[in-house]
Amino acid sequence: MNQRGFIFDFDGVVADTTEAHYVAWGRLCAENGWAFDRSLGDQLRGLTRRQCLRLILGGTLDLPEATIQAYLDRKNDYFLERANQMTEADVLPGVLPLMQQMCSAGYKIALGSASHNARHMAHLLGIAPYLDAISDPYTVVNGKPAPDTFLWAAGALGVNPKRCVVFEDASAGVQAALAGGFHVVGLGDPALVGNAHLVLPHLQHATLSQFEPFFASNS
Ligand SMILES: [Mg+2]
Repeated sequence: MNQRGFIFDFDGVVADTTEAHYVAWGRLCAENGWAFDRSLGDQLRGLTRRQCLRLILGGTLDLPEATIQAYLDRKNDYFLERANQMTEADVLPGVLPLMQQMCSAGYKIALGSASHNARHMAHLLGIAPYLDAISDPYTVVNGKPAPDTFLWAAGALGVNPKRCVVFEDASAGVQAALAGGFHVVGLGDPALVGNAHLVLPHLQHATLSQFEPFFASNS
């Protein structure tokens, strides 16, 4: 296990699909006469589709499973209608140059995402060629804050978590990475990701050399 690696959360780290999710949920709510506004939309960030629906419906999902699934599918259709228009230009600043540096230097790279669309979006955004593995809800049962998403990715890369850095923009994701024994770089608001080993506002202008000290103590 001499490999060293990096795991990127997808949403908010590689690309920002917040608005596409917001619009999709808003459309589903409008169709069904459910209350929805920006404040509720903000609370849905980082949650699974099912958790989002439960929150929108006031905290319970007292519906037949087929009905729930139909709502979730329709929301995803609306999301993809919008997300499918995204291109490489929608990859957040700094991510592609960083992935290129990592690949050239022989690091392994994975996505560790709670999104069922992670694989699809990776191809759409042109980052798939840089990825050695994609961990998503199809690969693990327990999502973040459980460490499973990242542990599966590390296993797929053949790296020990101690020799792997995770990039996360959500509190549950930072918690998951810490629980798995990874080095964690939190991106964004320190109020959300302050528990990470290093906090940066974003990856714009980030360079590989900034993260290499993480590997120094575990050689
Ligand atoms: Mg995220």
